Amino acid sequence: MKSVLIANRGEIAVRIIRACRELGIRSIAVYSDADAEALHTRLADEAYRLGPAPSSESYLRTDRILDVARESGAEGIHPGYGFMAERAEFAKAVVDAGLVFIGPSPATIDMMGDKTRARTRMEAAGVPIVPGTTTPLADAAEAEAVAESMGYPVLLKAAAGGGGKGMRVAEDASRIRPSFEAAAREAKSAFGDGSIYIEKYLSRPRHIEIQVLGDLHGGVVHLGERECSIQRRHQKLVEEAPSVVLDPETRAAMGEAAVRAAQAVEYAGAGTIEFLWQDGDFFFLEMNTRIQVEHPVTELVTGIDLVEWQLRVARGEALPWTQEGIRIEGHAIECRITSEDPDDGFLPSTGTIRYLELPQGPGVRWDGGVAAGTEVGLHYDPLLGKVIAWGADRATAIERMDRALREFVLVGVEHCGPFHRRVLAEEDFRAGNLSIRYLEEHPELTRAPENGDALQRLAAAAAVLLEDERRRTLAPPRIRPGAGGAPRSAWQEAFAPGASEY
Ligand code: ADP
Repeated sequence: MKSVLIANRGEIAVRIIRACRELGIRSIAVYSDADAEALHTRLADEAYRLGPAPSSESYLRTDRILDVARESGAEGIHPGYGFMAERAEFAKAVVDAGLVFIGPSPATIDMMGDKTRARTRMEAAGVPIVPGTTTPLADAAEAEAVAESMGYPVLLKAAAGGGGKGMRVAEDASRIRPSFEAAAREAKSAFGDGSIYIEKYLSRPRHIEIQVLGDLHGGVVHLGERECSIQRRHQKLVEEAPSVVLDPETRAAMGEAAVRAAQAVEYAGAGTIEFLWQDGDFFFLEMNTRIQVEHPVTELVTGIDLVEWQLRVARGEALPWTQEGIRIEGHAIECRITSEDPDDGFLPSTGTIRYLELPQGPGVRWDGGVAAGTEVGLHYDPLLGKVIAWGADRATAIERMDRALREFVLVGVEHCGPFHRRVLAEEDFRAGNLSIRYLEEHPELTRAPENGDALQRLAAAAAVLLEDERRRTLAPPRIRPGAGGAPRSAWQEAFAPGASEY
């Protein structure tokens, strides 16, 4: 496999382009009209326009993506996360077109995409699941009967669910019917499938997940856990590896359960088994059959490049490690930087990034999808990039992350960086006293501080003035279309006029 089309955008597309380049694989980007000047469009060896569909839908066009693959001579397609990554029909269309899908088989995606089927399969493989049903409920009356026998509170969940959609808590009997109906309605409109099942609602669990890697020869290893308990509306914001709460026995038991889970579905590539942990017990939540946003923390503590191994596995290489050969060293934390204003209820913010100064120095990594000049609109996920910090221990990683976030300056859109610094300073976070209720229990962290970040705002204003001054001395960028209909950016032209490599 010498060429890979990346059917995605933003930071994950950039991440994949980097891995391709290091392996000597030609990277082929696709872009929506809104992304004509995006970082992934500029960094890839080649870039193709997806066409006139609304920008939010361009990346969902299987037909167009396969056309580009044919036109560009791509041998493989990497779906990243989101968009096409967990659509079994897309994976199947890729395979049917004679291309390599960089991910598990369509059958595995299909099986794990349905939560009730996944629960059934996991239970059979001896993986503990959250107590509840493993088949969809017929109606609200059945939901009521099951909840009555399980005891409240319960959680009603969409079998086809994802992104926290189609999920409702019922605290007591009076809430079960309205919750069932609301969940079914939301699931029907979001996934075209209103099937609902029921789980025990855990009161104060932690979200702990295990990274697995499988190859096409039956090899599977796990790469330890990530704790992702700090969530807002079921969206992860801070992730770390390892988790402070696991003792060596529980860690080993979770790892073994995750490997059994992956083996049960003949898993190939990078995948994640998500668990809820409470009072020493852990329960299977779901499997994500793709690379995850938070994969860098695992990379930093294991030294294994997960995207590189996705590509190697897809090329047919066998994993070179035994389980004993995987070593976890130090501690890593990731803060997701989104274009959401933490001082205004995480309201999405839009605009042009006018100035960007990235954190650097020992133990710090930035995985980003934006640059100065990038337009941030409302078409896409608000994730701009991720700051990841490694330290020999957790306390060092926290100090490094705080130092990195102080260095980070992004002007033009609001972002959640200041929120992360508040979390890093908070006592329960420092003590590792976490649960998925963390932000509900610490509402002050999602509110603007009394004086605001006066100094930071002043620095930002100065940065804008500086950038304006710099722009006055530069000629405006020009865009010229390149060969094969792939426009080359002004940046590419400046550095390698006429060449496809730079
Ligand atoms: P989705 O696929 O929509 O993201 P998940 O099943 O992964 O849904 O659950 C998302 C989040 O919802 C979890 O990370 C956790 O915070 C919460 N959650 C899910 N199931 C339960 C449960 N049974 N009890 C308590 N919280 C839960």
